[in-house]
Amino acid sequence: MIHLLDQTPDQLQAWLAGHGVPGYRARQVWQWVYARGADDFDQMTDLPGVVRQRLAADFQIWSTRVAAHRKADDGAEKLLLELADGQRIECVLLRDDRGHCTICVSTQVGCAMGCAFCASGLDGLIRNLSTGEILEQMLRLRQCLADGERISHVVVMGMGEPLANLDALLPALAMASRPDGLGIGARRITISTVGLPAGIRRLAGLNLQYHLAVSLHAADDPLRDRLVPANRKTGIAAVLAAADEYFEQTGRRVTFEYVLLKDVNDGPAHARALAALLRGRPALVNLIPFNPVAELPFRSPLSPDVMRFAETLREAGIAVKLRYRKGDEIDAACGQLRRLTSPY
Ligand code: SAH
Repeated sequence: MIHLLDQTPDQLQAWLAGHGVPGYRARQVWQWVYARGADDFDQMTDLPGVVRQRLAADFQIWSTRVAAHRKADDGAEKLLLELADGQRIECVLLRDDRGHCTICVSTQVGCAMGCAFCASGLDGLIRNLSTGEILEQMLRLRQCLADGERISHVVVMGMGEPLANLDALLPALAMASRPDGLGIGARRITISTVGLPAGIRRLAGLNLQYHLAVSLHAADDPLRDRLVPANRKTGIAAVLAAADEYFEQTGRRVTFEYVLLKDVNDGPAHARALAALLRGRPALVNLIPFNPVAELPFRSPLSPDVMRFAETLREAGIAVKLRYRKGDEIDAACGQLRRLTSPY
């Protein structure tokens, strides 16, 4: 079976033409799936029965099974999806008090980057996700929405390193942002990267309007080497140079994510070093208090230290956003649900 969501509209049109079906039928199928949320060919009532049967014989709309669906009191919902080969991935829907519905999707099963504080990389990389598997997370999360809600933002911040799987991610995001796809404008889509300079440059060269977030976590190389092993090959300077290029090409301000780890990178000197590093750049710093992971020795920062850290950056003229934790009780962060042997 072919995963329908892995097909571009042109590919589907070619398949239909090969079966003697006029090309405009492809558009109808696409409308059913993306605009109307159909999950069965039988629902596509304006297609002739014989076309529906042909499609159902060769294509499947879903390639995953929902292995767990958790809801938190703060409106966060998390899906654990089992892929066709039995691997499991996570994706999350986050609601805020402004009525925004942000979905967070994964790009890989596991992750090769091995960040010291992250659950996703604990077992290394298992495999890349396909375009269809990335899109399916978005469509499945959309099914969680109530009447009147719509997906307002997409963040590619789930499991995996998006820039290590750009070939599958880019067509998925293109489909997400097309008006006849999910209709989520590129400016409301954020790609978060550990900071792979070559990948950032490739993305910059495409001159798309995606928002880029770079996971910095430290302002000096020895500390970053420890927390983000991928840094050993690149160094901070090369990551920042690529981020600068992204801004020059696209005009989009880059966000720098900084996970605060108690007594590791959350002190006043760390804040001053970060301020010095980013001074003069049109940067936004997203401070993320560490979300505890059972197997890992790190601790969450104390509130006053978080406030002081933010204040130091603000005093240096740097824009700061504090990410409040959401969905704690459903293990919404970073590959944690997948690690539980029994998801219920
Ligand atoms: N690989 C990409 C995207 C996935 S991680 C990246 O590195 O950006 C998304 C964000 O969550 C990153 O900033 C990552 O460092 C952060 N993160 C990972 N584990 C975390 C944890 N336990 N607590 C808080 N943030 C975490």
